Amino acid sequence: MVDFTLTKEDKKLLEMIRFLGEKYMRPLGIEYDKKGEPIPPDHEFFKFLAQIGYQERVAGMGRELEDSGKTGGERTSARRAVLIGEETSYWDRGVAVALPGPGLAGPPLSILGTPEQKEKYLSIFKDRENPHWGAFAMTEPGAGSDVARIKTRCVKKNGKWIINGQKAFCSNADRADFIVVWATVDPKIGRAGHRAFVVEKGTPGLILTKIEKKMGLSAYSSCSLTLEDCEVPEENLLGGEKVYEEKTGFKSAMKSFNATRPTIAAMAIGIARAAYDWVQDFIKQNYIISRPIPRYQKINENIAKVRRYIEVGRMLCWKAAWMADKGMENIVEASQAKAFCPAVAQEAVSLCLDVMQDAGIQNDNYVEKLYRDVKALDIVEGTGQIQRVIIARRLFGLPSEDS
Ligand SMILES: Cc1cc2nc3c(=O)[nH]c(=O)nc-3n(C[C@H](O)[C@H](O)[C@H](O)COP(=O)(O)OP(=O)(O)OC[C@H]3O[C@@H](n4cnc5c(N)ncnc54)[C@H](O)[C@@H]3O)c2cc1C
Repeated sequence: MVDFTLTKEDKKLLEMIRFLGEKYMRPLGIEYDKKGEPIPPDHEFFKFLAQIGYQERVAGMGRELEDSGKTGGERTSARRAVLIGEETSYWDRGVAVALPGPGLAGPPLSILGTPEQKEKYLSIFKDRENPHWGAFAMTEPGAGSDVARIKTRCVKKNGKWIINGQKAFCSNADRADFIVVWATVDPKIGRAGHRAFVVEKGTPGLILTKIEKKMGLSAYSSCSLTLEDCEVPEENLLGGEKVYEEKTGFKSAMKSFNATRPTIAAMAIGIARAAYDWVQDFIKQNYIISRPIPRYQKINENIAKVRRYIEVGRMLCWKAAWMADKGMENIVEASQAKAFCPAVAQEAVSLCLDVMQDAGIQNDNYVEKLYRDVKALDIVEGTGQIQRVIIARRLFGLPSEDS
């Protein structure tokens, strides 16, 4: 049975996120949404997080991440990741992604990385003075959902890898100390040709071309990159040659670090919860006293629906995470959570706007911001459509392109 009990550690962690969320994350999210630009990397909040050991903790290089007492490049449990995802996004999803730490580069480094690579790149986050970031570059202008289509080429020459290509929508790449870049030795052979490299900041040929202007989630940067004869030492091939020679090992590693879908789903639920709480306060302050009674029925219906979406969505996330932690195959459950939660969160935020009526679409009303923020959750880490394709394939045993 799925266990929904929060441990003492969970509660402590949530308390810490609530403190940071209320004092820093929500106000910063609003400020940088208004500015329409990412929080600068030298912002004092990021420095403060480094000082309190935040980035060390999320990189798994500090104190125990789990009650099990594991340290050093270990991943946090899926259950804990879901909790953190929901709570940080409740306060501000854009700021949550902007926080220092290895980000999406963390899972491939932890799973595929050699002990030397983990030590070298994850120990960067032990710094208690300055914030650091990692980034992950898979998406290209012509390859998003279908990662098998990536065209960025890698060629080995004289013991070095030369990378050429373009990457898009790479979160925090402008400030990252290193980026895990995916390239192919041969685009014709799909995923079998994929190689991942750790490309360090300042490597000649690694060029930041653009920071996107997004409809929401302004607090973090989404970057386009070009790699032009970008030369990477042999030892920066993630996991070393052997990982790619043993194809089944590489495939199963890919699957396990692809298992972040319940966390993204939980982030959408966090945004829905933020809208729900905001609209509750709004109703108390505005409607009960001043508005006519007939509107109440619609308000009741909307609020009850939003509450139901949050509860059901959270359960799907918890179940998928619980299965992952038990080592059970959870492809269908993880995709169900990812297909369901961002879609209902979008509807939930919209229902909250309806309740607020004319006030809802005013720019200084927080729910309007959430309406713009929530959309991206349906796109990242596999769109809703793709999740439904995955679910159907699994349930009906249909062949997949890479099988
Ligand atoms: C805010 C944000 C942050 C991101 N951060 C990163 C990052 O850090 N690193 C990174 O590498 N990428 C990142 N991405 C990219 C993200 O992973 C891609 O946007 C996503 O994979 C979808 O790819 P696409 O946008 O190219 O859409 P496409 O794959 O071109 O899809 C377009 C539409 O077609 C649908 N579609 C595609 N194929 C199928 C199919 N087989 N069946 C049914 N429908 C289909 C999709 O659902 C979608 O609606 C980020 C994106 C966003 C928006």
